[in-house]
Amino acid sequence: MNRIARSGLTINQLSRRSFCLCCLGATAVAGDWVMPREAFAQASGIVDMIRGEAAKAKITVHKLRGNVSVLEGSGGNIAVLTGQDGKLLVDAGITASKPRIVEALDSLDAKPIERLINTHWHFDHCDGNEWVHAEGATILAHENTRKHLALGQRVADWSFNFPPAPAGALPSEVINADKTLHHNGTTLSLRVHQNAHTDSDIAVYFTEADVLHTGDIWWNGIYPFIDYSTGGSIDGTIRAADAILAATTDATIIIAGHGQPVSNRAELKEYRDMLVAIRENVATLKQEGHSLDETIAAKPTAAYDAKWGQFVIGPPLFTRLVYEGV
Ligand SMILES: [Zn+2]
Repeated sequence: MNRIARSGLTINQLSRRSFCLCCLGATAVAGDWVMPREAFAQASGIVDMIRGEAAKAKITVHKLRGNVSVLEGSGGNIAVLTGQDGKLLVDAGITASKPRIVEALDSLDAKPIERLINTHWHFDHCDGNEWVHAEGATILAHENTRKHLALGQRVADWSFNFPPAPAGALPSEVINADKTLHHNGTTLSLRVHQNAHTDSDIAVYFTEADVLHTGDIWWNGIYPFIDYSTGGSIDGTIRAADAILAATTDATIIIAGHGQPVSNRAELKEYRDMLVAIRENVATLKQEGHSLDETIAAKPTAAYDAKWGQFVIGPPLFTRLVYEGV
């Protein structure tokens, strides 16, 4: 069994679901047998593998409501708003998928891409920034997304450095607070969620269509990655989920960052309740003085593993991500 398989992450799993930056973390931190140099080599190899798989990945188009659609299959789920002003995208996926993303976008209408919003800085959401910008689109993101892309970013958990992004990939407009935009006759409400999945999360609400893209605050049906290296936290993720629940209704279509993209408030509530329950279990064990290894051995996620623990963030890694923040 190779090292990737030993960590519980197989290439087959990677090809069945959308890829994410977080897959790399799952590989490097799943066992303490990985030395930093090996982790770096693995992560480098996996970045190449993710790009290779993204080059072949099928892109599925889901038409939602009004003029909002979602593209599934290249990194994080990509929302598309069509209309006379040209397309507005929420996240850009992985560059290697460009031909199939273009094909999917062309199937919606013939208009060019005018605007791109990044929900946060991760590779599987911003890798396509450069080509989308080259097509003529402006890019808006949180100021921390621009900072992380411009400077490059070290993800300490797995000793991996992302190099600085090329100039064309950098957002030209940044925000650090909520903002309202108008495009294609739609009112877009951009909500900044502080220190949730990262320090740069924006959720995007298409008001008239009543559709909301959560970015990676929500992973639908799977344990989420939480990026502490750039300001993410379990408590911030719970706060953000609560805020989104408060801002939506049972009629709202909610797009998750990863997992099945067309979903709703009831499934988001189930995710939020899972986070809260596991946070309490882990916090209790930590307060009793248990080490991380003892806490993992106590299986504080056990009641949830059959449903949520079947993708790249398995029970031990998710326990570790919660332990770090309580
Ligand atoms: Zn992410």
